[in-house]
Amino acid sequence: MTPGKRSRQAVLTTANGAPVEVRRSARRTRTVAAFWENGTAVVAIPARFTAAQESEWVHRMLEKLHRQGERRADKGRRQPATDAALAAHAAHLSAQYFGGRAVPTSVRWVSNQNSRWGSATPSEGTIRLSDKLRAMPQWVVDYVLLHELAHLLVAGHNAAFWKLLEAYPDTLRAKAFLEGVSFATSRGWAPGEPGRTGTPWLPPEPAAATGTPTRP
Ligand SMILES: [Zn+2]
Repeated sequence: MTPGKRSRQAVLTTANGAPVEVRRSARRTRTVAAFWENGTAVVAIPARFTAAQESEWVHRMLEKLHRQGERRADKGRRQPATDAALAAHAAHLSAQYFGGRAVPTSVRWVSNQNSRWGSATPSEGTIRLSDKLRAMPQWVVDYVLLHELAHLLVAGHNAAFWKLLEAYPDTLRAKAFLEGVSFATSRGWAPGEPGRTGTPWLPPEPAAATGTPTRP
């Protein structure tokens, strides 16, 4: 038995390892279709297709299905939470870390905020988050949200303010993360669009003479 001939359909999987079923249909005369059905990638082809045509079209349609899936995943990653979802999340964070004392009147994503990750107007109870945060990890977004929520309770950055944020375990890490992003951006090291794959940015080799000296 030539391997791959008889069992080809049985072992055929998508790039992600999902099973593939080739469905020949006499009713189908010209069109080829591919779709998901209960976790199986189904490729429907006309019954009259030759083995070579089948092979070519299955391959082509699986690639198409794969690209569709990636586009959807990309969209999902970039798909922002709505303002309503953001407000609900803020209420949840306020309850979890501030005993529900910070009660914003509105929490919104904004795209016109370039110098700040977030801002709050305590007199109005409003909070705005830069949509640049959308590409960042959730624990970073949560920090910015908690930071602005804390401003509804304490206006400035005094000891009482930072005391509030001590309750959140990722405060220092998130601050460092955002400082890193700002640092990189200020030097033009910003990566491409979120979700885009490409060569990761590599820092320049440090000059040998400028290392931090070890303690004697
Ligand atoms: Zn602040």
